[in-house]
Amino acid sequence: MKPPAFRYHDPAELGEAVDLLARLGPDGKVLAGGQSLIPLLNMRLAAPAHLVDINRITELNTITAEPGGVRVGALARHRAVERSAEARAVQPLLAQALHHVAHPVIRNRGTVVGSIVHADPSAEMPAVLALLGGSVRLASSRGERDVPAAEFFVGPLETALQPGELAVSAFFPALPERSGTAFCEVSRRHGDYAMAGVAAAVTLDEDLRIRSARVACVSVGPVPVVIDVTAVCGARPASSVDWDAVADAVRERIDPEADIHATAEYRRHLTGVLAVRALRSAADAAGESEE
Ligand code: FAD
Repeated sequence: MKPPAFRYHDPAELGEAVDLLARLGPDGKVLAGGQSLIPLLNMRLAAPAHLVDINRITELNTITAEPGGVRVGALARHRAVERSAEARAVQPLLAQALHHVAHPVIRNRGTVVGSIVHADPSAEMPAVLALLGGSVRLASSRGERDVPAAEFFVGPLETALQPGELAVSAFFPALPERSGTAFCEVSRRHGDYAMAGVAAAVTLDEDLRIRSARVACVSVGPVPVVIDVTAVCGARPASSVDWDAVADAVRERIDPEADIHATAEYRRHLTGVLAVRALRSAADAAGESEE
């Protein structure tokens, strides 16, 4: 399979790329790792007239871990973020989720920001960004703007990114002390997109009772579905939570669809199971962070 004809551009400067995208408008598409875009071109599901390859813009190849969170530049590969000890120390959910993204060869090339912009409802990174209340920084000839995750994901493969804009980075906030995270998913084969998946974040109070518990679910809606289950958990230690009630609360809030991989009922059931598994594991990690 071969892609349709396109004009190839490879600017070396961010300003050059942004000017080019402004000129090209809807005819221009950014090429990052190419792990989603190239298959789409080869299957003739997309036919942009111009590709703007950003791989020479080295200033976008950054992972900046600060106490407040981790900022991932548009050229940081999945694998580099997964392996970054600094990023893991500030926000462990990144590495926990990236372990489930495709296979190592794809993670060596694909980018975290590319995955967020691609906005596949089955992808892990959009769910992580949505759960943490992160944001995406977009640059254009008009300047920069930060778009919160809650506004960025609009629908399947659809985001708030406008023609002429380049996503320069994504910001993943840190969680307060006594917090833990986990990511659980089920796919037919390791590395496939998940039939269902759940990212969880739990924060405990000083007496190790649950202060906050939230999940973001993948593959069960057009965008990541963020659900706050703090009230269902109650201000109790994880060992006393009614986890069946938590699973039911999650199942009530999702509206999965059937496809060749799973029925809607199976996805709903599975998401409840995975939510409990991820929340319990996140609560354990939060407790261990105290020791
Ligand atoms: P590209 O393919 O280069 O681009 C994807 C889209 O985003 C394009 O529309 C492009 O124009 C746009 N884009 C990219 N970067 C920018 C930017 N900086 N600014 C503006 N627009 C931009 N992903 C998962 O999440 N989970 C999986 O389990 C998974 N399994 C996979 C299995 C296989 C076999 C393959 C081939 C891919 C899989 N992927 C999976 C996708 C992979 O993670 C991609 O790397 C990722 O989705 C896109 O990142 P990329 O850098 O390759 O983006």
